[in-house]
Amino acid sequence: SGPLRVAVVGSSEVGKSALTVRYLTKRFIGEYRSDTDMLYKCVLQVDGAPQPVEIMDTWASCDESSDAHLQWAEAFIVVYAITDKESYRWAANTLQELSGRRSSASVLMLGNKSDLGHLREVEEVEARTLALTHAARFSEVSTAESCTTVSQVLDNFIKEVKAQ
Ligand code: GDP
Ligand code: MG
Repeated sequence: SGPLRVAVVGSSEVGKSALTVRYLTKRFIGEYRSDTDMLYKCVLQVDGAPQPVEIMDTWASCDESSDAHLQWAEAFIVVYAITDKESYRWAANTLQELSGRRSSASVLMLGNKSDLGHLREVEEVEARTLALTHAARFSEVSTAESCTTVSQVLDNFIKEVKAQ
């Protein structure tokens, strides 16, 4: 079996690039600008065995997930920002689309920017319930504040995808 292909999708400004870079480098890079898809290849340790992984930090000019991304990946990290209701609607639509067209794919929904609780527009319980409905995993994270949580959540997800 080849590398595990993971796509990070979501509307713009939710923190997809910050999250991807955080996971791979353990650093928060506040202003990481890219106007193209970025493909990162790495080898992670999963239960003591090397696991090649390809992570696509997607970029969509028109704020919708492209068919190419949906076809390419076998696992999806669907990101929204808890401070942005519109980004949550985008994520909800994507979960719906994945359930229909890629029902065997593994999905993790992440509510990012949990450090900005005073600006919250999306309730955690609502998002968690939606994820459950679509058999997706769910977590709120702060890419800006906590390195550990992002690492743990993504490590666990990749481990579970691998085990399936
Ligand atoms: P992308 O368009 O989805 O790739 O989003 P970026 O990774 O470029 O991040 C968009 C903006 O959100 C940047 O200004 C980041 O510094 C900021 N950002 C990303 N994650 C967090 C977070 O967890 N908390 C806060 N407060 N800001 C974040
Ligand atoms: Mg980006």
